[in-house]
Amino acid sequence: MLCGLLADAYFGLAGFVQIQVGLNFSLEVDMLKADFHLHSSFSGDSDTAPEQIVETGLLKGLSAVCFTDHFDADYPYNNVCFVLDTEAYLERILELRSAYEGRIEIGFGVELGLQPHLGELYRSYVGQYPFDFVIGSTHLMDGKDPYYASFWEDCAPKDGIRRFLEITLENMKAFDDFDVYGHLDYIVRYAPLEPKRFFYGDYGDLMDEILRFLISHGKGIEVNTGGYKAGLGCPNPCPEVLRRYRELGGEIVTMGSDAHAAEYVGGFMDAARDVLRDCGFRYFTVFRGREAVFVALD
Ligand SMILES: [Zn+2]
Ligand SMILES: [Zn+2]
Repeated sequence: MLCGLLADAYFGLAGFVQIQVGLNFSLEVDMLKADFHLHSSFSGDSDTAPEQIVETGLLKGLSAVCFTDHFDADYPYNNVCFVLDTEAYLERILELRSAYEGRIEIGFGVELGLQPHLGELYRSYVGQYPFDFVIGSTHLMDGKDPYYASFWEDCAPKDGIRRFLEITLENMKAFDDFDVYGHLDYIVRYAPLEPKRFFYGDYGDLMDEILRFLISHGKGIEVNTGGYKAGLGCPNPCPEVLRRYRELGGEIVTMGSDAHAAEYVGGFMDAARDVLRDCGFRYFTVFRGREAVFVALD
């Protein structure tokens, strides 16, 4: 039922995009290139000025960039601070938007580091700001960050991956006011496994439950091209998971580089398009004011 409704919206919105893009940017639909996962110095782990991101986006021929700086409440380590100064961040985005008006679209987004106990806090937070786009991501597992090698000292790789997926499911059940779920299988970047890839067959039960939850709640996923940069040879999630999301009726997929430095802005977007086409998608998605807008892939 939901699948049918989404399919109808698809074609209506695709037509809408054609008109809107034509008015704002004088671009054809198939020329729209958008990076919807970007970090600037408003994130605790980036020192890239926001204008550098925008300038690089222009140089690379992007027609839209959406900032998604980090807000990870209750992040337990002291070496980095993931509390976002959202007021200052919004002010900077609005300044950039007016400075670059008519040249590139600049989105105001956020990447929330979800944890099962933070649902209420994030619901209230998201309601306070005029976000275009919200990514929900799993960065912590039981209060620990699997990014650090020390995490894996007392955790077998496959057990860690399974726990990551269990927590991802708990996170989305606790808080679902996001637009897409971020880098669904990126735990394989850090798990000490060779080869570094996600084997859908090992975790299909859990991954299917996650994908079904997202689809039934009208939520999307992203193609995070940081996987290429991490040497995986594919985005996160991997094509098997993207194909499965599509098979189960999922249609909302954004593309983002997860760049924390200007040089990576817009990275591997062409590869991501190819992967999406191979996985059966005809459209990718951008968000404006939390509304999904579908853009033809070719
Ligand atoms: Zn992330
Ligand atoms: Zn990110």
